[in-house]
This record gives sequence, C-alpha cells and structure tokens, in this order.
Amino acid sequence: MSTATDEMAGIGQPGPDYGDLLAGLRATFASDHTRDPAWRDAQLANLVRMLQDHEAEFLEALASDLGKPPMEAWLTELSYIASEVKHSRKHLKRWMKPRSVRTPAFAQPGSSWVQAEPLGVVLVMGAWNYPLQVVLAPLVAVIAAGNCAVLKPSELAPASAALLARYVPEYLDPQAFAVVEGAVAESTALLRERYDHIIYTGGGAVGRIVMAAAAKHLTPVTLELGGKSPCIVLPDADLDIAARRIAWGRFTNAGQTCIAPDYILADADTEARLVPLLAGHLREMYGEDPQRSDSFGRIVNDRHFERLTALLGSGTVAVGGRSDPAERYIEPTVLTGVDPDSPVMREEIFGPLLPILRTDDLEAAITHVRSGDKPLAAYLFSKDKAAQRRFLDTVSAGSVCLNDVIMFSAVPELPFGGVGESGMGAYKGENGFRNFSHLKAVMRRGIWPDVPLRYAPYSDSKFNFLKKLL
Ligand code: NAD
Repeated sequence: MSTATDEMAGIGQPGPDYGDLLAGLRATFASDHTRDPAWRDAQLANLVRMLQDHEAEFLEALASDLGKPPMEAWLTELSYIASEVKHSRKHLKRWMKPRSVRTPAFAQPGSSWVQAEPLGVVLVMGAWNYPLQVVLAPLVAVIAAGNCAVLKPSELAPASAALLARYVPEYLDPQAFAVVEGAVAESTALLRERYDHIIYTGGGAVGRIVMAAAAKHLTPVTLELGGKSPCIVLPDADLDIAARRIAWGRFTNAGQTCIAPDYILADADTEARLVPLLAGHLREMYGEDPQRSDSFGRIVNDRHFERLTALLGSGTVAVGGRSDPAERYIEPTVLTGVDPDSPVMREEIFGPLLPILRTDDLEAAITHVRSGDKPLAAYLFSKDKAAQRRFLDTVSAGSVCLNDVIMFSAVPELPFGGVGESGMGAYKGENGFRNFSHLKAVMRRGIWPDVPLRYAPYSDSKFNFLKKLL
C-alpha cells in the first residue's frame, strides 16, 4: 500500500527517463573543456547577455508568475544575478589558483597545496518565489567552478521556467547545460539519476526527499531551505528606520521571500510605538489601497492564498487585513496580540503577514528564538553594542543582520545558506565556487634526501628520534 510520503516522493510512479541527457552532460564534462577558465568566463558573460537581451520578457514572466513589479524584479532577480556574475568574473582566476600550505619538517623535502577541481554534473532545483535568482545564482557558482548542470526551475512559476528553457540553451553551451521543465514527476525522475552535487532551494519536506535520493549515490547536497526568521526590536532602536526597513523586507514580493523577517519580537511599549510607524511606512510605499499599487505583488497560487488568509485570524489585525481571492491579493497586514502557539507562529508564513510577538526583553526574545529551529536569517534592531554582541554570540542562524533586514544577501563575499532545519551548505562568491569544487589536497615530494626514519626495520633509536621530532 503506498503512503502519502511515498506519493510525495514519487515512489512507484513512472516518469520520464533522463539517462541519455545525463550521459551527454557527463561526456561533455569528461572532455575537460569546462575546466578552461576562458570557457567559464564566456559562459558567465553569456548568462548576463541572455538576461540583458531579453530583459523585458523576463520581467513580463515574473509579473505573470508573481505579479512582481518590474523594478523589484529587476533589483532582486536580474541585477542580483548580474552582480554575482561580475564579482565571479573579476575574481575567478584568483579563486582557481592553487593555494600553498606549509609542509612540516618531517615531510621535507616537499611542497603542498590545495587545488580546486570541478565536481562534474550538478543538479540545480529551484523554488518559485525568486524563480530566476534561485536557479541562476547557484548556476553562476556552478559555472565558475567548471561544472556542467541540469537546471530544474519550479513548475509554480511556469512563465519564468519556460523562458529559462528557451534561452539557456541558446546562450550557454548546450552540451554542458540543460533545462528540464515540469513538476513532481520530472523532479522525481531527475532525482533517480546520479550527480556530483545537488543544490535544492525550497521547503524542508522536499529537501528530505532530495537528500534521500542523493544518499543512494553518495551525492553531496546543498539545501537552501526556509524557516521562521525572527526580528527582535529593542526599545533603544531607531524605530522609524526599523519600521521602514522591516516593512520593506517583509512585504517585498508580497512576503514570499525566504529571508524576510517572519515575525517581530518586541516589548509592549515598543510594539505600541512600532505599529503606527509600520502603518505609516506601508502607506508611503503602497498608498491608501495597496491593491491598486503597482509596487505590490500577488500570492503565487490559490493554495497559498487560502493557507495565508486562514492565518489572518491568529491575532488582532492592527494594519491591513483585506484580501481578494480573484487577484490572490492579500493586503500588507500587521497582527498584534499574537499567541506563541497560534497557527501563524507554527510555520514559516511566506506571505504578507507580520505578527508581533510580545517579549519582555532581549533575553526573553533570545530564549524564544533558541527554543525553535535554527532560522535562515535572524535580525536585531538596537544601537546597544552589548545587546548586539549578546545576540551574535547566542543566536544561531544561517545569517544575521544588525539594524537591517535582507541586505546581507547582497554582499558577494558573505556565504548564503542555512543551518539545521534552514539548510546546509552555502553559495555566493568564492563560497559558491568552493561549494561546487573539490578542494584537492596535493603534495609533491622531493627525491633526495630520502630520510630512512619511517621505514622498517623499526628501532628504539628511530622511535626516540621520531618522538622528539613530532
Ligand atoms: P517548490 O514547490 O517550487 O519546490 C521546489 C522544487 O522542488 C521544484 O523544482 C519542484 O519541482 C520540486 N519538488 C516539489 N515537490 C517535489 C517532490 N515531491 N519530489 C521531488 N521534487 C519536488 O518550492 P517550495 O518548497 O514551495 O519553496 C518554498 C520554500 O523555499 C520556503 O520555505 C522558502 O523559505 C524556501 N526558499 C529558500 C531559499 C533559500 O535560498 N534558502 C530561497 C527561496 C525559497
């Protein structure tokens, strides 16, 4: 009898066969031309050219999939990928250089170094919320490291997926990169094949399926998952700036951002001062009626719309609260009087709802955060250096940011990834290059002198000398 988990994992369901596709990519990798730095550089340049040549179409696709306003889509998807490419092209030669390490006295004469080598064929599986970014930003690192790849964009953003399927083979080396469109059947069939690395961006339930499939081939995985990213606001913070930044971070992409502040932790007085400031900034950003604003997005599908509107009852609506199923519109909403056990606090919200949970002070807030899963991001608004230090030293999260939200993800030299339930592994910049490389240990020994110390027959004098040496 098949179970719901079996069904989710696609066990027993026939699907397409990607054996030939993988064999082709493997042959390309075996030809060694993806190792050439000039080839890597050309692929990276072409990736940006693809986005530039078809910018209007990509922006239209993002509007059709998620109602993304063009400027927001450009900033968080197209320009994000372009700046990732720019940084990688600038530094790639340095990243590729072998790095010398010290060779100890007993191993002299000799030299040792670490040499990065490409892994092979990488499967990149993306989520729907930033349908270009979550596929193409990892791809930048995959290319920089000299690999081939299969890209599997999310079926929940079909217009974006269709454009990737159309243009990637046109702009990138089609012998080295393939795009597979489709849903669970296609993902399941892809996961039956062997890869040299899998990077998956999405929810933890499918993350487990991906990891189980990878385990069959001993394939390493990078899991970019989500979770409830807390945002602690202390009374000494600049509350006006905090409200503005939090409102922007929470309601960009209609709240469907993995590193958006999921909920606020604040004491009663701070909450009372923060709510009108949030309301004011929301009015400034989206006007009196955000439904008519062309700066505010929509919910991806009916299932998520219904899930989110059911969460509106988890507290008192202090700001917003309206919704329209015909447009899958949910007004930017702030909830107060929220119980820590209410439905809105039990799962990642992933929509335009911002609950405020009352906590007495920093310690209570930290205790609350530490009692749950390790989040993808954690935020603190406070000018107090001691509070910042305490937060940094005690809260474990994929990334943390002080006095702002989300902006850390634009720093190319910071690794982007989760910890615990929010994921494993990280990419961006050099961290991405290393994530998709094997860091091969190399030692070159000199021939003379060949010190006889380690060779049998062993003796007390050799033993004593070794003990002194090591
Ligand atoms: P999703 O439903 O689009 O799924 C992601 C991928 O998994 C898709 O390619 C899909 O085809 C595949 N998939 C779905 N069901 C499958 C199954 N049963 N077997 C095999 N493959 C399957 O995305 P989602 O899970 O709704 O994504 C939302 C989550 O992603 C949120 O939790 C969010 O926080 C997280 N996220 C994380 C990051 C990050 O960088 N850490 C970025 C964006 C989103």
